[in-house]
Amino acid sequence: MAKFLEYQGKEWLGKAGMPVPKGRAASSPEEAKQVAEWIGGPVAVKGQVQAGGRGKAGIVKLVNTPDEAAAAAEEIMSKTVKGLPVRQVLIEEKLDIKKEFYCSIVINNAKEARCPMMMFSTEGGMDIESVPEELIHKVNIDPIFGFQIYDAVDLCVKAGIPDKDISKFASFLTKLAQTHKKYDCQTLEINPFVMTGSGSLICADCKMEIDNSSVGRHPEFNIKIARDLPGEVTELDMIGWSIEETDARGTGFLMNMSYDEVSPGYVGYHPIGGGSAMMGLDALNQVGLKPANYADTSGNPVGSKIYRVAKCVLSQPNLDGYLLGGFMMANQEQWHHANAMVKVLWEELPKKPGLPCVLLLCGNREDESLEILRTGLAGLMTPDGPGKRVEIYGKEHVTDTKFIGERLLALAKEYRAEKEAQGK
Ligand code: GDP
Ligand code: MN
Repeated sequence: MAKFLEYQGKEWLGKAGMPVPKGRAASSPEEAKQVAEWIGGPVAVKGQVQAGGRGKAGIVKLVNTPDEAAAAAEEIMSKTVKGLPVRQVLIEEKLDIKKEFYCSIVINNAKEARCPMMMFSTEGGMDIESVPEELIHKVNIDPIFGFQIYDAVDLCVKAGIPDKDISKFASFLTKLAQTHKKYDCQTLEINPFVMTGSGSLICADCKMEIDNSSVGRHPEFNIKIARDLPGEVTELDMIGWSIEETDARGTGFLMNMSYDEVSPGYVGYHPIGGGSAMMGLDALNQVGLKPANYADTSGNPVGSKIYRVAKCVLSQPNLDGYLLGGFMMANQEQWHHANAMVKVLWEELPKKPGLPCVLLLCGNREDESLEILRTGLAGLMTPDGPGKRVEIYGKEHVTDTKFIGERLLALAKEYRAEKEAQGK
C-alpha cells in the first residue's frame, strides 16, 4: 500500500477540512528550531517513520522552547526505529489533552461485508490490539450510501459519549468518513484524536494508506510507487516499478527485503512464480543465504520483461550470487526465460566476473530452453570466463531445494574467497 508518513497524512487531512495541529516537518535540528519559533510556545517533536508505537520508542517528545525542540530533533534523528532511520521530525503545537479517543476506517474483508468499516473507541492513544473488544464500536459503511449521520450518532451513543458532545463527535466521524472516500484510502486511522481543554476535537496522530489500485486517480499525491515500501525510493526501485506498472504478469518491482548492500550472503533473487518462490526461499534458508530482493517472472511474460527484471535483480550491488529459481513446474514457455537470460548474462557478467549464477528452468519447452542457455552461454562459461560460475539445471532438480542451495553456497564461498584474494 502507498503509505504516508504522519506529517504528509496530516497535510491531506487538513486540506480536507479535518482539524489538525499547527505544525510542519523538519529535516534538521536548525529547521526544527525555526518551525518551533514559527509555532511559538511548547511543541511536540515527533519522529517520522513508517511505524507505530513511536511514543514507546522514545521518538515523541514534548518540549517548551525552540532550543529544546532542536535538541529533541537531534536526539530523535539519531535513532533507528524497527530498522528504519528517522530522517525527519514533525514539529507541532503541543496539545492541551483532556481525553484521547480512537477512530479508524479500514476495509472489512469479511465475506458478508466487503466494505469500509468505521471503528470508534473512547480508549485512544494506545495500541488498539490492547483495547478490550467490547470497548471498540464498529459499523460497516454502505459503499453506495456512505457513512450516514445516524451511523455516527449510533457509534457515539454506544461509546457513551455524553449527549451534549454527540453532534461534535458525529461531525468529526462523518468528516473522517468523507475524507477516507475522497482520498480512496485503504486505511485511515486517527489514534489518538483528542479533546482539548477548550472542548474541541483534533487529530493528534494519523496513519493514512492509499489503496494501491486508486493511485492513478490521485496525481495530487505524487506517489511514485503504489506499493508498500519500507524506506526511500531508489533509482532501481523506480526502474523496477516502471516494469511492473505496464505489465501485470509476475512482479517486476524489486521488493527489497532486509538487504543492506554491505552484509555478506545476499543473493539476487529471481524466482518464477509464487510457489516456486517459496521453494527458492527454502533453498536459500537451508544454507544460510538470504534474498536481496523479491521479483518474479511468472504469468508467461515476454522475453523483454524477463530481461528487464533479471537486469534489475543483477544490478543490485554487492551480491554473492544470483538465483533463477524455476522450481516446480512452471506452466509457461520457458524459452522466453532462456533467451532473456542469455542476453542479460552476456551484458551483466562481464561487470561482475565470476558471480555465481544458478539457473533452474523446468516446464514447457524445457529441453529447447536448456539448449538455448547452454549454447548461448557457452562462450561466457569458459574456465576463466566471467560466466565460470554459471550452472544450469533442469527437471532432475525441479523440487531439489537442498541441492540448489548447496550449489549456490559452494559457488558463493569460492567467489568471496576469490574477491578477498584480489583485495576487493
Ligand atoms: P505513536 O506512539 O506512534 O502512535 O504516536 P502518537 O502521535 O500517537 O503519540 C503518542 C502519545 O503522545 C499520544 O497518545 C499522546 O498521549 C501523547 N501526547 C502528549 N502530548 C501530545 C501532543 O501535544 N501531541 C501529540 N501528538 N501527542 C501527545
Ligand atoms: Mn498514535
